[in-house]
Amino acid sequence: MSLLLCQVCGQPADRTEDGVLWLLPDFRDDWPGWPARMAAVEPPVCLDCVRVSVRYCPALRNGAAAVRVRDSTVVGVYGALYRPGPLCPVPVGIDTVPYDDPRVRWVQAERLVRELGESTIVPLETLTT
Ligand SMILES: [Zn+2]
Repeated sequence: MSLLLCQVCGQPADRTEDGVLWLLPDFRDDWPGWPARMAAVEPPVCLDCVRVSVRYCPALRNGAAAVRVRDSTVVGVYGALYRPGPLCPVPVGIDTVPYDDPRVRWVQAERLVRELGESTIVPLETLTT
């Protein structure tokens, strides 16, 4: 995630003048301008891995959106959140916690979180044909 490598093959993610390519579960009806301001926990992808991702990724089975993201910033972590306990840390749950949240020191981080900025939705069929 920090180097914007493809989440499938580890090569550099596809990048054009419109931005870095992300495949996301399609929630474009969630808010105007989606996915801008979205906290992404999955890294981008390369062109070669688009077809296999759409076909086999369980997270994309209910619909995928291809998005070119012009800017994004690592803003936090995703993982197991704990709180102080009487003898040892007590698990609270799985959460996304920004770096400026004091709870971040209680997260056993599993993934980096990137906030997506200005984005353009790309017709998926232009990438898979
Ligand atoms: Zn790839």
